[in-house]
Amino acid sequence: MSYHPRIPSLDDHHCQACSSPTSKEKRLSCFTCDHCHLSMCYDCFDKHTKHLMNEFTQLQKRFLQLTNLFDDKRRFLGQFQEHCIRSVNSAFDEAVNDLQNLRRESIDYVRHQFNDAEVNIYENKHKKMKSIFFSRQLYQKYWQMFDH
Ligand SMILES: [Zn+2]
Ligand SMILES: [Zn+2]
Repeated sequence: MSYHPRIPSLDDHHCQACSSPTSKEKRLSCFTCDHCHLSMCYDCFDKHTKHLMNEFTQLQKRFLQLTNLFDDKRRFLGQFQEHCIRSVNSAFDEAVNDLQNLRRESIDYVRHQFNDAEVNIYENKHKKMKSIFFSRQLYQKYWQMFDH
């Protein structure tokens, strides 16, 4: 990249905003804008500065709006996250509760079934004992009859 030094002309001393090379009334420049590097007269510089300030205020407002919007979205996301976590917790609490109830009912059912089975075994044992005892009595009686 080459650099060609520019030889200052008489136009450089005139306002680049309102004075063209053909204009009859040329105003002298007394300020240079740091933003666009234009040399301007007082009026043009004042107008230009006001315009930039206005743009800056608009950008500041827009920035504030975006910041507020971003904060709102972040707050909403935070609330939504809490809501989702609450829903997951509640669903799991319900499922755990259902499982605990099912476990209790299953254990009760098993106990009940084993209890019934035990009662049946006990009753059958007594019936058998009774019948054995009863037939043995008859048997003994029978033999007693033949002995005499
Ligand atoms: Zn001017
Ligand atoms: Zn400027």
